[in-house]
Amino acid sequence: MTNQPPPLTGYDVFAADPALTEGVARYVAAEHLGEAREELGRLGRAAGSAQAQCWGAQANAYPPVLRTHDRYGHRIDEVEFHPAWHRLLGHAVGAGLTGAWTRPHGHLRRTAGFLVWTQVEAGHGCPLSMTHAAVPALRAEPELAAVWEPLLTSPVYDAELRPAARKAGALAGMAMTEKQGGSDVRANTTRAEPLAADGEYVLTGHKWFCSAPMSDAFLVLAQAPGGLTCFLLPRVLPDGTRNAFRLQRLKDKLGNRSNASAEVEFDGRTWARRVGEEGRGLAAIIGMVAATRLDCVTASAAVMRQAVAQALHHTAYREAFGRRLADQPLMRNVLADLALESEAATTLALRLAAAYDGGTERDRALLRLAVPAAKYWVTKRCTPVVAEALECLGGNGYVEESGLPRLLREAPLNSIWEGSGNVQALDVLRALRREPAALDAYLTEIGAARGADHRLDRAIRGLLTELADLAGAEARARRLAERMALVLQGALLVRYAPPEVADAFCAARLGGDAGAAFGTLPHTLGLAAIAERARPVAE
Ligand SMILES: Cc1cc2nc3c(=O)[nH]c(=O)nc-3n(C[C@H](O)[C@H](O)[C@H](O)COP(=O)(O)OP(=O)(O)OC[C@H]3O[C@@H](n4cnc5c(N)ncnc54)[C@H](O)[C@@H]3O)c2cc1C
Repeated sequence: MTNQPPPLTGYDVFAADPALTEGVARYVAAEHLGEAREELGRLGRAAGSAQAQCWGAQANAYPPVLRTHDRYGHRIDEVEFHPAWHRLLGHAVGAGLTGAWTRPHGHLRRTAGFLVWTQVEAGHGCPLSMTHAAVPALRAEPELAAVWEPLLTSPVYDAELRPAARKAGALAGMAMTEKQGGSDVRANTTRAEPLAADGEYVLTGHKWFCSAPMSDAFLVLAQAPGGLTCFLLPRVLPDGTRNAFRLQRLKDKLGNRSNASAEVEFDGRTWARRVGEEGRGLAAIIGMVAATRLDCVTASAAVMRQAVAQALHHTAYREAFGRRLADQPLMRNVLADLALESEAATTLALRLAAAYDGGTERDRALLRLAVPAAKYWVTKRCTPVVAEALECLGGNGYVEESGLPRLLREAPLNSIWEGSGNVQALDVLRALRREPAALDAYLTEIGAARGADHRLDRAIRGLLTELADLAGAEARARRLAERMALVLQGALLVRYAPPEVADAFCAARLGGDAGAAFGTLPHTLGLAAIAERARPVAE
């Protein structure tokens, strides 16, 4: 047999990605850089191994199964996973992908690790994200945080359902969405009635989506006497008995099939602890939502990177009409265009993670605007990028074994959960209208690149004109969010990426010098260098 490429395996997913390695070097201080690189290299080699790739395939080929009752008819409300799911999660938790809050540059290092490891399998990124993101919400309640934060940030994956006091590590989920409303959670009807003990309640109601239902605890929104309130709901009560957490069904989803997403009911005996004050549920859970939104950006960057890596690898080996595909001018244009999109997404995700670590007022203000803009735009780009990358593999790409169909099914998800596209765009508008410091921080950030590229400068001027008058802006909120994300990506690439990458991005994405489809970059740009930079090389 000739002309079939070898599998892309036995490589270091981290080291093979210059946008990622350079980003880590940019933001991690010198005294921590060696350790960070070593750790990410270890994770990268594991992610590129045949073993981990096999776990990823198995976890999707054997999806989770709901077991509502045991053999005698008792309710157990458990979900059974293939062992590969546990191996993936175990490796991720052990590598610190839920431990960002405990060490210097924790967010940047975790984001880089998440980008590396979820390339193996995207579905288990969901419990990793929610566990990571639950920490800031729980900190509103120091007594609860004292119990749960060490468990949620622990490097031990402990899959047994036991009370917190007997766990070595724990996972958290969140349950906000109900049948009658997901984006508008104020429509929640789940009721919370206070018990005699302070801060304790029982819940009655349902949640229409509750992913990773075997997690140890969930942040839940419910209507208390004082209004919409956030609660921590453990699966197992402190005395070791199971909380009433009725799993009704698992969703039959387009993708994300390794992960379970359940419908769940609370039956009036479901016990929960209040987090924050009654009526302040949205304020309490917002810290969790902000962190998961950044993870949606990172997860999309990971899906895109893996798809583009597969396309670059395949075309480097496959020949047609007497020449390697990667050397054919039109394929080179497609590959360079895809690589550009992947690099822009990675660079933006890392910048936002660094702002989390920075933790200054200005960092927080930047995140307030840049996270929804990035969540809107980067997640939207994921599906077309993966579809085009799949086509680079020709018929092989359409076949399940290539891994590309799994990536394509996963691709739309990050744009839906944690606030769908319109909701993100409207959130950008809300921040623009209500939080002047957010716009100041954004303008300072992009201002650092001013004067370096005339197309970027023109795009900034155009954006400022659009921002000057926000009347009727709701109907053009997507356009605004897109432009803000593109200008921010352009500003970062102009400052940090190789000149050919920045030049092509500014020409195509800001200067309008490209068509709607990928592979329409001006042919005069350094296309070969852009594609070659991104090509993963097996050791
Ligand atoms: C696989 C999967 C797993 C999930 N896991 C969880 C989970 O673990 N926990 C959880 O709580 N939720 C979960 N969700 C739910 C998810 O967060 C919601 O589906 C999402 O927030 C959208 O809510 P909705 O489905 O009710 O859609 P709707 O709120 O009905 O929105 C439908 C559409 O209308 C748009 N829209 C809404 N408001 C406006 C407006 N004002 N102007 C213009 N357009 C608007 C939205 O952008 C969207 O495109 C999950 C969803 C999926 C698909």
